[in-house]
Amino acid sequence: MFMRFQAHRGLKLVRGEGQYVWDSEGRRYLDAHTGHGAAFLGHRPRKVVDAIKEQLDKLMVASTTFSTDAMEDCLSSLGKILPSKLNNVYFQNSGAEAVELALKLAFKATGRRGLLSFRNGFHGRTLGALSVTWNSEYREGLPLLRAEFGEFNDISSADLINDETAAVILEPVQGEGGIEPSRRDFLVELRRACDEAGAVLIFDEVQCGFGRTGATWAHQSRGVEPDILIAGKSIASGFPISLVAARDWVIEGLRAGFHGSTHGGNPLACAALKASIELFIEENVPEAARKMGKSLASMISEYAELKGEGLMLGVRVKQPGRAIRSLQALGVLALKAGEDMVRLLPPYCITEEDCSFLSGRLRRVLSEQSS
Ligand SMILES: *Cc1c(COP(=O)(O)O)cnc(C)c1O
Repeated sequence: MFMRFQAHRGLKLVRGEGQYVWDSEGRRYLDAHTGHGAAFLGHRPRKVVDAIKEQLDKLMVASTTFSTDAMEDCLSSLGKILPSKLNNVYFQNSGAEAVELALKLAFKATGRRGLLSFRNGFHGRTLGALSVTWNSEYREGLPLLRAEFGEFNDISSADLINDETAAVILEPVQGEGGIEPSRRDFLVELRRACDEAGAVLIFDEVQCGFGRTGATWAHQSRGVEPDILIAGKSIASGFPISLVAARDWVIEGLRAGFHGSTHGGNPLACAALKASIELFIEENVPEAARKMGKSLASMISEYAELKGEGLMLGVRVKQPGRAIRSLQALGVLALKAGEDMVRLLPPYCITEEDCSFLSGRLRRVLSEQSS
């Protein structure tokens, strides 16, 4: 019955707890897949589960045309972690949807049509988001918006920004297309060119944001701020919610009702987001990601080539598809990235012991591949 075009891993999951999931046969897996990174705060963190249950007993549905405590509380929590200039927040349900809104805002704010994105960039599977996504397999045969693709981390890509450019969109650390951290000078140059041309600079932190790279937002460790920040995946511990946060100038002049969303800002999602932000602050999640990321990276770098930041790591292998299947058989869930990478997106609560286990399994898989 399930959509036949959905790729499948041949595994049925029945339970999740912290850094582990269990399949229908009772086998435990260390989860370095975390639902494409969504369970970065671990599976079912107590505080978040409790907050959702509590909200469920009060109010489950409210259109954003009404105020709710859930929304107000969630916005004030967000104020603690969002850069202060990005103070116009709109909630959506998925990353791709938030990308769509960001592009709409950029078109409206500039009155232009030009889009600049980058090789190996990934922004989601809806038509607008696909227009700025590099992978041609995802794009082929579809009518898309016109976009140019620049070379990632090449400062001369900034020459492609001109007075027809509405938006420049990129991931400060590329995820799906191959784990690739952006260089500071590259972001500085894009920022300068966007300011000069009056274009909107959009950072898509759906995967790299919310502590995963060791900073609250990945762009903060580069010292370059966007006009629009997009977040999703892990921000509510995997409860479906995403957001767009924009500077004032981007939303000036928009009429009320310019955009809408039935489920965007749902009270349960807002409660989950607020509790997740509290947990994020209490547990100093970025610090944990930095520390455990360093541990894991130092173990793996003894035998493999590694890229990434914090707990967003890519390991170069010859056959990533085969490698992740072998890892699964050995009790570790991981993902692919690009053509030649195993991507590891473990949760912040992973321990030293988990890191040794993961690294040991990976080493075994790599040595089997090379023999
Ligand atoms: C996953 C992802 C998206 C799309 O998010 P969905 O929730 O799957 O729509 C967009 N941008 C980046 C960087 C992502 O990693």
